[in-house]
Amino acid sequence: MKNKKVYKIIVFGPQGAGKGTQAEIIEKDYDIPVISVGNLLRVAAVGKSKWGRKAAAYMKRGALVPDMVVNNLLIEHLKAKNCARGFVLDGYPRNLKQLKLLTKLVKFTHVFNINISDKEAVKRIKDRLSCSCGRVFHKFFNPPKRDMRCDFCREKLYVREDDRPAAVKKRLKIYRRETEPLVAFYKKQEILYDIDGSKGILEVYREIKKI
Ligand code: AMP
Repeated sequence: MKNKKVYKIIVFGPQGAGKGTQAEIIEKDYDIPVISVGNLLRVAAVGKSKWGRKAAAYMKRGALVPDMVVNNLLIEHLKAKNCARGFVLDGYPRNLKQLKLLTKLVKFTHVFNINISDKEAVKRIKDRLSCSCGRVFHKFFNPPKRDMRCDFCREKLYVREDDRPAAVKKRLKIYRRETEPLVAFYKKQEILYDIDGSKGILEVYREIKKI
């Protein structure tokens, strides 16, 4: 669907809630780009820059990458991507400092808080399959069409190192402690929408689209 309105969107939610999946559907449906800070960091992590390799060490153990690094990355991408007609931000802000920076940079129109329980998150991530192109699949809920390869670029899918149980538990803890409280800020602005992420992919998207 093509739509002339400007949508500046954030997706919040614990690991495995389906932020990336929903962001991708919005991207296609509304023709606006996704900025996924996690994907940008994963690209940098296998690149040549020193900061990218340093970031990789934080990511591997499920910790947040230092603010300076992610902030610079975000600022660069907000400028470079075609964001004037809107965009979907996934994976930012993740703490209060990042929220403070973001409020200076962008006025958002919609914030979707996609929630699932920690138990469901751990269960989902266990069978999550990722591609180096940034796409995500799931062994049972969203399986690739053929040979455990990406439907889009045909690269072999893999299990992310930080999707292993110890790192996932750490990431969930950080999410509940540092990231989830940030939604209160957007609630006050009356642009926050709580979404039940425990449903199927298309059902969740139907909720988002209604809004
Ligand atoms: P994600 O793909 O969103 O799950 O992010 C994967 C990992 O990238 C996180 O566990 C962090 O190590 C790092 N990361 C992503 N976004 C941020 C952020 N806004 N601030 C700090 N670290 C981040």
